[in-house]
Amino acid sequence: MTESIKPRTGSEGSNGVLKYRRVLLKISGEGLCTPGKSGIDGQQVCRVAEEIKLVVRLGGQVCVVVGGGNIARGSTISKGSPIEETTGHYMGMLATVINALAVQDTLESLGVPTRVQSALAVDNVCERFIRRRAIRHLEKGRVVIFAGGTGNPFVTTDTGAALRCAEVRADVLLKATKVDGVYTADPVTDPTATRIEHLTYNEVIDRRLGVMDVSAIDLCQRSGIPIVVLDLSISGNMCAVVQGAGVGTIIDAGE
Ligand code: UDP
Repeated sequence: MTESIKPRTGSEGSNGVLKYRRVLLKISGEGLCTPGKSGIDGQQVCRVAEEIKLVVRLGGQVCVVVGGGNIARGSTISKGSPIEETTGHYMGMLATVINALAVQDTLESLGVPTRVQSALAVDNVCERFIRRRAIRHLEKGRVVIFAGGTGNPFVTTDTGAALRCAEVRADVLLKATKVDGVYTADPVTDPTATRIEHLTYNEVIDRRLGVMDVSAIDLCQRSGIPIVVLDLSISGNMCAVVQGAGVGTIIDAGE
């Protein structure tokens, strides 16, 4: 197991103390595959891993929640099929384990120490989720990759991300998307769409902006965890956020 990168403390980071020291990155399965395709694209995973490595080098403690939509989504699998929806959701959760292993090996190939912890028991390939152990890994500079979502069907890994964020007391939830934040309209189809720099949790819920599941936003609100929506494909974006730069869209209580 690779343990070569020794993270510096926040005060030793190149830009001084980090704004967010313990961060949770939520990446969807589509962030790990070729755009418009399914499965895993090693180069995409490598790009994600490089961004995580930059933050670890700055002294950030990083945990990652991976989605599984590039492989299986419960609601899709069960449609018009004898596979029960519940089974489909478990298949989706298992898909996140596959993605987590891809992220793990890629990070370790870059010299970043990791652990995978799963909400579903898959003891031959990873640890089970144990909150106190996860925190210990983070304190030791290991990137902890959370697989298996919440371990329960009918919800998504967004909710899993908010849950783990609250459990390990992360300072921020970084939601990686294809665009650099939340827009007034779809920037792909509407050239007049503009980026919104700041939103409150209530605005996201009331305006149905679809940033994350309502349950995930609600949990972040109750736990006081800010959410930053950012484009991970722009190199250095994640680093910029943890250092306090105004990248993407920040969602918080707005006080
Ligand atoms: N899933 C689930 N419970 C969870 C997390 C995920 O049942 O706590 C299932 C659900 O079917 C979901 C699939 O796993 O569609 C893949 O997760 P998600 O859709 O969140 O992946 P992403 O869109 O982030 O790639």
